Amino acid sequence: MKPLIVANWKCNPATLKEAKALFDQVKNTRAVICPPFVYLSALKANGAQDCLWASPAGEGGGAYTGEISPLMLKNMGIKYVILGHSERRKYFKETNEMIEKKLQAALKVGLKPILCIDKISQIPTDLAAEVVVAYEPLFAIGTGKACNPERAEKMRMAIKRATGGKNPILYGGSVNAQNARDYIYQAWFQGLLVGGASLKPKEFVDIVKNVC
Ligand code: PEP
Repeated sequence: MKPLIVANWKCNPATLKEAKALFDQVKNTRAVICPPFVYLSALKANGAQDCLWASPAGEGGGAYTGEISPLMLKNMGIKYVILGHSERRKYFKETNEMIEKKLQAALKVGLKPILCIDKISQIPTDLAAEVVVAYEPLFAIGTGKACNPERAEKMRMAIKRATGGKNPILYGGSVNAQNARDYIYQAWFQGLLVGGASLKPKEFVDIVKNVC
């Protein structure tokens, strides 16, 4: 199977024009592209960066001001949703309990969650096989200091033991076109979650080319 490459644009770019220009340059890679919510519809993207922890299904909505429900995402053709990113844990005080509720809500409507963790204790027990786990060591996120592949592989094996081997495991943290292959062909991850480098179209296309 080809590695799963996921682009996390975070809170970028500032205009729809820039978002379209970026998307046009990377869409043929067939990677999962997760732009901010406001651009999802115009880009027809396949991934989102978060969702509400409840699934107000049926009515299609609920009293959750400012939130985006998993059902809304599903209904607009989104396939994957990143959950539990360390920035959401840090800045928005998301707890393991909230993230587990988001996982359940996303699974209920048929979205594929990408659960970000940096410790084994953040993996819920009885994790559904549909969940993709992304190992993102905190020191490596957005710092340019990628985890060394040997250390990353040890963590990959620990995650595999904790999940019974049924979930795909991605690596994320300062991935670039130079180091991308190390995580796939040395540390044997099944894919990559790419932040900063996903905003540089040439770099991102090279990452995908180098591993696929
Ligand atoms: C991320 O935020 O998920 C991430 C991996 O960021 P970066 O690639 O910039 O380290």
